[in-house]
Amino acid sequence: MRMDGVNQRGANRRRILRKLSDIGHPRAKKSTTGQIDRRTPTSSVNSHAPPALDGNLLLEALDPGDRALLEPYAERRDVRRGDVLFRAGDDVSQVTFPAHRCVVTLIVPLLDGKSVETATIGREGAMGGVVSHGYLPAFGQAVVQVGGPVIRIDAARLSEAKQASKSVRDLFVRYADCLLAQVLQSVACNAAHTIERRCLRWLLTLQDRIGTPELPVTHELLADMLGVRRAYLTEVLGRMQRDGLISIGHGRITLPDRARAEAGSCECHAAVRRHFEDVMGAVYAPNGRIVAVDVGEPGKLRPPSALVKDGTP
Ligand SMILES: [Zn+2]
Repeated sequence: MRMDGVNQRGANRRRILRKLSDIGHPRAKKSTTGQIDRRTPTSSVNSHAPPALDGNLLLEALDPGDRALLEPYAERRDVRRGDVLFRAGDDVSQVTFPAHRCVVTLIVPLLDGKSVETATIGREGAMGGVVSHGYLPAFGQAVVQVGGPVIRIDAARLSEAKQASKSVRDLFVRYADCLLAQVLQSVACNAAHTIERRCLRWLLTLQDRIGTPELPVTHELLADMLGVRRAYLTEVLGRMQRDGLISIGHGRITLPDRARAEAGSCECHAAVRRHFEDVMGAVYAPNGRIVAVDVGEPGKLRPPSALVKDGTP
């Protein structure tokens, strides 16, 4: 039997409270009036998403009616580190939603062989045709950084769902705003901040999406992300390790102390994270991982006074 809207929202809230309680999140607590905090997500965190849409927070944040618009067209596949999902100039006919721990980076390759990261996208987002209606050529290149499952939906079908549902449209408009914020902040960061700070920003951004202190990052990959030579990056990483900010292993870099890494990073990581919290209602676990998005009522932003500054380690 299908639940009505009120029951569905209540069931979603209870499920999410249980999930947040499991990770010790402060928003799992009820307020003194017995009401759930208004920033408690009303959706997501594996809230009975059908298997086809499971693992991506944007798709899980949709209500059952909206999911039904997309589910029949969702295809799942596994991607591996280094896979290129699209290149600049390709006609992008499918929107790609990373799921679970899969992370993809949008980079801009330059003629001299260098490339620079513009946005890093995990299960909180999507790429390719997110904003546009239908098929348009890609501007950048999407490269898988951490392999895993992705969900792909035909861009024209997503466009139809946006036209049919105000809440689908609202969710993707908000996400497009957050993606633009990420890109804008990257522009500022690449132009103004030191390599050490930029490096920490990117490692923290990756940790937000996979949730473990150990990050599967090679020097080569990181040099590509930051647009510097590998030998130079190795020198920089050596200094950062001597300062205790990172620990370098074979094919991985560990952030032993996230608070120190945040303090050592530029303001860019925190600025983008705040924007995700304000616009998407993103909820972060104490280990930094994004665990839910909750956009609330379509078209309405929460007043700043309602924002609860918790969940930040
Ligand atoms: Zn920066």
